[in-house]
Amino acid sequence: MNTYILIKDIQKELQGYLDKNLSIGFVPTMGALHDGHLSLLRRSKQENDVTVCSIFVNPIQFTNQQDLTGYPRMIEQDSKLLTEEEIDILFAPEVDEMYPPGEESRMDLDFGRLDKVMEGKYRPGHFNGVAVVVRKFFDIIRPARAYFGKKDFQQLTVIRHMVEALQLPVEIVPCETVRESDGLAMSSRNLMLSISERQLASRIYDVLMFTKANAGSVPVKKLQVMAQKRLAETPEFRIDYFEIVDKQTLLPVGSWDCPEQILACTALYLGEIRLIDNMELFS
Ligand code: AMP
Repeated sequence: MNTYILIKDIQKELQGYLDKNLSIGFVPTMGALHDGHLSLLRRSKQENDVTVCSIFVNPIQFTNQQDLTGYPRMIEQDSKLLTEEEIDILFAPEVDEMYPPGEESRMDLDFGRLDKVMEGKYRPGHFNGVAVVVRKFFDIIRPARAYFGKKDFQQLTVIRHMVEALQLPVEIVPCETVRESDGLAMSSRNLMLSISERQLASRIYDVLMFTKANAGSVPVKKLQVMAQKRLAETPEFRIDYFEIVDKQTLLPVGSWDCPEQILACTALYLGEIRLIDNMELFS
């Protein structure tokens, strides 16, 4: 595996592949890699000639300084894992390389309600930061395909919107959420949970499964309240939201009329750690 920290160096290698018409698959990550990330990387390897993984803890998408400084960083371990997985290229730039001092780092794109609801409401500016960095990566790497986890469903939706609105020549490939054996969605943030918090965390999955089991038979709003109550039975959870929404608009649904479109989404704090998860209710 070749590792690059400078844009000009990675571009030199990638230009060689583009000249030969080889396809580049791209998996952006913030590192502390787990099986969720690996599932995206393996899919990219299957579908492309060359796979690039980026590891970059993107400061402008954090809305909480403590979250940014505390975010797990383990580049050596990650690099070993990527080598074992036979990933072709790791791109791990420093902050100044991605955001040269003095350069504008906002995107002037209207996301409508997509970046204002749910995560957007609790982390204003977060998705703008995500969109800016992903756009920059696309410009640098010029992938044919880019892989995103449904674990971050709203992020996936925002990126799809950006690609469509700006007509970027990249295919966005959504990938299923990979879970621990007790159902907890894998996340780099799980590393920051204490042992007792880690045990409680799987209750998020239990409530999503409860919601799925009752979807269609209990009215939407009633089921949403029932699920919220179930989450609240764990006093250690501080719930930001639990919503039943349309997968495209991310707005709350009032009925079960378009079942294949319906997603339950939640975000909550367990101690200092904010966890998010979601589930398609009729798939
Ligand atoms: P992150 O490093 O958390 O920014 O995640 C990088 C990519 O991996 C994003 O597209 C995430 O949605 C995806 N991802 C994170 N956790 C999982 C998971 N448990 N299953 C599938 N994809 C995931």
